[in-house]
Amino acid sequence: MNTVLEVSGLTKQYDGIRAVDDLTFSLGEHTATALIGPNGSGKTTTLSMLAGLLRQTSGTIRFSGEGKDPRSAIGFLPQYPKFFPWMTAIEYMELAAGLSGLEGRSVRSACEKTLGFVGLGDAGKKRIGGFSGGMKQRLGLAQAIVHRPSLLLLDEPVSALDPAGRREVMEMLKELGGSTTILYSTHILNDAEEMTDQLLFLRSGKLIEQGPLREVREKYGGSGYRVLFN
Ligand code: ATP
Repeated sequence: MNTVLEVSGLTKQYDGIRAVDDLTFSLGEHTATALIGPNGSGKTTTLSMLAGLLRQTSGTIRFSGEGKDPRSAIGFLPQYPKFFPWMTAIEYMELAAGLSGLEGRSVRSACEKTLGFVGLGDAGKKRIGGFSGGMKQRLGLAQAIVHRPSLLLLDEPVSALDPAGRREVMEMLKELGGSTTILYSTHILNDAEEMTDQLLFLRSGKLIEQGPLREVREKYGGSGYRVLFN
């Protein structure tokens, strides 16, 4: 299997706290991996470094997906996406597409198509200020995938949604899973089990377990790996 991402010794030190401590792992093409751990374990810090938004203190991140420009090869859905409420959804999508390196005549249709995929096909001309939380989350997902990234980084993509919204977004992500590599941050084991087949378990910034979910489950017996949260 081709490797899309190779991370070695990744560390982020803040004053007095090592938020991410010496992570080493790799992601294979078209795999779905859960980055799981309790609150404050370093998930957002890790994803922010992988997305190029935060500089690591030490360690290396080697991305070997298609396209030389990481902007065009990585999609990132932050835990709390920021929007300009006065913009329409299509304007926001075009801005995001430009930042991801898309240009030319096909941008508009790529944006419209992606809004359709996330169920916002009728909302393109509406201002984001009037969107519900669920619509905003779907728009956040749309901006992350408009350029068809080969690596999709998702920071707790469903934790702010109600049960119906969670289900909808999870189904969309499953559909994307066949064509992209996904790193899915969550603190909910059931979500990890449903959405992914590999596990990276963080505690206090350290990777304390990694591998296929099935193997980790077997190692701890049944759902015994829930003890990792303790
Ligand atoms: P959650 O599930 O609550 O979102 P998380 O697993 O994403 O948490 P991070 O947000 O990455 O965890 O935080 C990891 C640790 O780093 C925490 O102790 C946090 O307080 C600390 N931290 C994060 N950002 C900063 C910062 N800018 N300055 C100092 N400490 C920080």
